Amino acid sequence: MSTDSPADALARTGRRLYELGWMRGTSGNVSVRDGARLLITASGVDKSSLEAAHAVATDERGVPSAGQPHRPSAEAEVHAAILRASKANAAIHVHALSSVIAAARWPDGVPMSDVEQLKGIGRGAHGDRVVVPVVANSQDMADLSERVVQAMDTGVPCVIVAEHGLYAWGSDLGEAVDRTESLDWLFEYVLRLDALDR
Ligand SMILES: [Zn+2]
Repeated sequence: MSTDSPADALARTGRRLYELGWMRGTSGNVSVRDGARLLITASGVDKSSLEAAHAVATDERGVPSAGQPHRPSAEAEVHAAILRASKANAAIHVHALSSVIAAARWPDGVPMSDVEQLKGIGRGAHGDRVVVPVVANSQDMADLSERVVQAMDTGVPCVIVAEHGLYAWGSDLGEAVDRTESLDWLFEYVLRLDALDR
């Protein structure tokens, strides 16, 4: 058996995000393309104990195929919409505190510029003004999917859901994680800089 199947990689990514403190209390979820289907983390699982068996297969709309032992995350539909719209192969949803606070401070979009870490999300370190979109939260996943997709900016691999957390994506799981780490750093940075100015 392969030690690095897409399901293994998905589980490993979830455990890593948990260790970074972004998947507390079973929150957060990760998805990755696996051929024509999507794999997404199961609902309600403590992410520190994620295993390949917790990867739930769905179609491209996030609807799970029958006969699987676990239910997919409630947010599967949002992941599926992001992967379709962005052409990315992997998406991450975490309740990173920095993203929630930044969205509360800048509800119309989180502005950032002139800092080296912007290169981590594919932008310029100097003279490049980036605004990370913010959308309102919803408990209706169809509604939330539509809001996120409409807010997506081709130059920013992230949308923040206010009072909730962030979605970020990349060409594979590794890139999606790298970008999430950069985004968390950037949100911390703009918040601390803003506090200095007060
Ligand atoms: Zn969430």
